[in-house]
Amino acid sequence: MRKFFNKETLPGFIAAGMAALSVCAAALIAFYPPPVTFARLIPVNNPWVRDGMFADPVGSGVQCGLCPFKCFLPEGARGRCKVRINYGGRIKTLVYGKPASVHLDPIEKKPVYHMLPGSLVYSLASPGCNLRCKGCQNWEISQIYPEQAAKTALVPESLTLKVEGPTGRIYGELKQKEAATLEPREIVAYALATRARSIA
Ligand code: SF4
Repeated sequence: MRKFFNKETLPGFIAAGMAALSVCAAALIAFYPPPVTFARLIPVNNPWVRDGMFADPVGSGVQCGLCPFKCFLPEGARGRCKVRINYGGRIKTLVYGKPASVHLDPIEKKPVYHMLPGSLVYSLASPGCNLRCKGCQNWEISQIYPEQAAKTALVPESLTLKVEGPTGRIYGELKQKEAATLEPREIVAYALATRARSIA
């Protein structure tokens, strides 16, 4: 060992270590680009930023209690889900009413059993997730920061069912529109207008 680590070789080892660290940091930033700062996200009238619930001040930060991860967030930190942040000692959600994906699906696509068989479900999602499932089929929206999501989503607005020809085949005509925000009462109204019997 003394052969390798001595006064002459030490600077070389330190330089090599620093270079390796720089490469790792660059790779990390390339794969996980840092989100823009919260200050840029919160032009005060940003409709997606609201006070969050289920959090308590603890020491010099805030303890989120919304999911079992119970993230402790120092000032300015985001939770594992990427959508909850400690801003000024208070939890803010960054995705209030922010749809990333809205669909009208057969209930059979959902992980439920014998619930309203044959019906439609109005299903929607916002960006972010607290899990890291390897086979996630929705990774493009579940693993992004809210500010990386598209500004609008296509929202099913109404559904007209028609009967065709002598065979009596029933088909649906779906009307959609772009939406940047979606309030809870709008979700219910759209679900009713599209004949969905449940919301997920
Ligand atoms: S992952 Fe998000 S919701 Fe869950 S505890 Fe952390 S900050 Fe809260």
